[in-house]
Amino acid sequence: MKNPKNILLENFDLAPFSKVKNENYLPAFKELIEAKKKEINSITSNPDAPTFKNTIEALEFSGEKLDRVSSLFFNINSAETSTEIQKIAQEVSPLLSELGNDISLNNDLFLRVKSVYDKKSELNLSVEKITLLDMSYKSFSRNGANLNDSNKEILRKIDKELSSLSLKFSENVLAETNNYELHLTNLVDLKGLPEGEIEAAALLAKNKGKDGWLITLAYPSLIPFMKYAENRDLRKSIKIAAGSKCFKKNKFNNEDNVLKISKLRYQRANLLDYSSHADFVLEERMAGNPLKVFSFLNDLLEKAKPFADKEFKQLQDFAKELDGLDHLEAWDYMYYSEKLKNKLFNLDDEKLKPYFKLENVIHGAFTVAEKLFGLSFIEVKNIDTYHKDVKTYEVKNKENELLSIFYADFHPREGKRNGAWMDCLKNQKVKNGINERPHIINVCNFSSPTDSNPSLLTFNEVTTLFHEFGHGLHGMLANATYPSLSGTNVYWDFVELPSQILENWCYEKECLDIFAVHYKTGESLPIEFVEKIKESSTFMKGIATLSQISLGLLDMAWHAVDPTKIKSVKENESHAIIKTRLFPEIDISCTSVSFSHIFFGGYSSGYYSYQWAQVLDADAFEYFKENGIFNPEIGKSFADNILSKGGTEQPMILYKRFRGREPRPEALLKRAGLTNN
Ligand SMILES: [Zn+2]
Repeated sequence: MKNPKNILLENFDLAPFSKVKNENYLPAFKELIEAKKKEINSITSNPDAPTFKNTIEALEFSGEKLDRVSSLFFNINSAETSTEIQKIAQEVSPLLSELGNDISLNNDLFLRVKSVYDKKSELNLSVEKITLLDMSYKSFSRNGANLNDSNKEILRKIDKELSSLSLKFSENVLAETNNYELHLTNLVDLKGLPEGEIEAAALLAKNKGKDGWLITLAYPSLIPFMKYAENRDLRKSIKIAAGSKCFKKNKFNNEDNVLKISKLRYQRANLLDYSSHADFVLEERMAGNPLKVFSFLNDLLEKAKPFADKEFKQLQDFAKELDGLDHLEAWDYMYYSEKLKNKLFNLDDEKLKPYFKLENVIHGAFTVAEKLFGLSFIEVKNIDTYHKDVKTYEVKNKENELLSIFYADFHPREGKRNGAWMDCLKNQKVKNGINERPHIINVCNFSSPTDSNPSLLTFNEVTTLFHEFGHGLHGMLANATYPSLSGTNVYWDFVELPSQILENWCYEKECLDIFAVHYKTGESLPIEFVEKIKESSTFMKGIATLSQISLGLLDMAWHAVDPTKIKSVKENESHAIIKTRLFPEIDISCTSVSFSHIFFGGYSSGYYSYQWAQVLDADAFEYFKENGIFNPEIGKSFADNILSKGGTEQPMILYKRFRGREPRPEALLKRAGLTNN
C-alpha cells in the first residue's frame, strides 16, 4: 500500500532534502522500479506497430521519477552518508542492476527497437533522434541481442568468466600490495623524509603493534618515500617490490589472468562481429577506432620523446653533480626530480594561499562564466539543502531567464567521500514542449575556514574548483531534448573537455587579476608568482607524457590485437613499450599484471583518453588565446557547439564545428613546454 507520507513519491521540482527521511528511500525505490517495469510493459504490449515515438521515445522517458530519486539518493550517499544510508545503497544497487539487466535482455522490447532501427533511413529523423535511436539499438546489440540462442549462451558464459577473472585479478593486486612492508628500526634509514611523513610511518608501525617505522606499497606511504628517502638501496627495494607485484611465482601471480582476460575479451568482440576488443570499445568513443588511437599515441610519442630524453639527461647531470651518480635508475626519478624542482622553483603553497580565498575564487569562476557565456549567479537562501554548508544559486542568462539551479558544497565533513565531483540532481530535457532546466551540484573537499582564517585554497584546489565548475557548466547550459543525451552524457574521451579547458584560465594573468588578491592586504598576486606557476607546470612534462603514452600503448597491445598468439606477458609488454623506455628495464618487474585500470576498472582500450582529453582542451583553449581569453564570440561558439549540445551528435562533428578542424596536438605540446619555440 502506498504510504502517503513518502515525500519522494510526491511531485517536487527542487529536491526536498530536509523533508526526506532515510526510511523513505527503500519503499520509494521499490515502488518506482515497479512503475518503470509497468512502463516497459506497456511499450512491449502496445498493439500499434513500433514507431520512434511509441518505442524509442517512450523508453527514453520511462522511469523519470526513478532517475530523479536515484540521483538524490546517490548524491547523499557520496556527500552526506551514514551507515544507514550505506546500508540502503547496498540493498538498492542490486535492485537497480537487476532492472537494467531485465531491460537489456528483454527480447520483445529489442524486437520493437530493432524494427524502428531497421527503418531508420525512411523515418526522416532529426540528428538528435538518430543519435538516440542508434544508442538504444546498440545498448541491446552490444549486449548480444542479435545472437542466436547458443551464441547468447556463450556470451553469458564469457561475461560471467570475465567478471570473476577481473575480480580475481584485483584481489591479487590488493593482496600483494598488503603482503609487502618495509620495517625500519633505524631512524637514519628515513633520512630526507619530512617530519610529517616520518610520523605517518611511525603510526603505521604502531597500528600493527610494531616498533620503529613501516613503509608500505600504498601510495600515501610509497610516494613520499620514493620522493624523499636518501637511502638509495631502500628506494630500489621498494621500487622492485612495487614493480614485481603479482609477477612473482606465488599464488597471487596474475600472468594467467591477464592472458585469459584478453583472450576472452577478444572472443567476445568476435562473437559480436568486431575484429578486436578495442574495435568494440572505441565504436562508442570520439577516437572511433584503434588505428586512430595508435596514430594519436605514436605521433605524440615522436614529438615528446626528444624532450623526455633532454629532461632525462638534465636529471642525470643533476644527480651526478649532487651525489656523483653515474647511472640514473627507475628508483631515482622521483627523488632527483623533487630535488631539482625545489632548486628551480621554490614555490610553496603557503606563499600562494593568502591570494586564493575561497569566496574570491568562486567569484573568479562566476566572472569567467559571465564574460564568456553571459551567465549570472545569484545566491538564494531559500532553497532546501542537505547541509547548512551547501550554498545555492540561481543561474540566469543575458535575457534574465532561469537556466539552472547550482548547488555548491565545498568543505570536507565526516560522511563526505574524498575528491571533488559534479553531479546532476535534475536532468535537463524537453518534454511536452517544456524545456525543463537542470539542477547541478559541485561537491569538493577544500580547506575549511578556521576561527582566525577564512578558507584559503592551494593552487591545486583553485584548478580543481575551475575543473568541477567546467563540468557544472556543461550541465547548466545543456539544451537537448532527451535526458540521456543531455549535459555531460557524452562519450567519455570527450567529457573532460569542458572541465579541463576551464583550468587554463587559472594560469592567465588577465584572469588571476580578477580574483587572486591577498585576503588581508588586497594586493594582486605578484607577477613573479604567476610566472613561476606557469613555468613549474611544465617541469618534467616530457617524461610524464612519455609514461602516459607508454601505458596507453600497453593497453592497446592487449586489446587491439589477436591475443591468442601471445605466449609471454612480459614479452608482449616489453615489445609494446620499447620506444617509450628511458630507464633501464627491470627483469623481475612487469606492469601489465597489476594494471588494474585496464584489467579491473573500466579503462580497457581507454587509457589513451587521459592524453586525448588534454590535447582537446589545449587545442580548444588555444582558440581562445588567439582571440582573447574573454572573447564573447568564441565563448558563444563554445556554448552553442559544445556545452549545450551534450551527446546529441558525434563529438568529432561538434568539435569541428567549434574549432573549424579536427584537434591537433601542437597546442598541448606547446603548453607542456615540448616544442622548440
Ligand atoms: Zn573531470
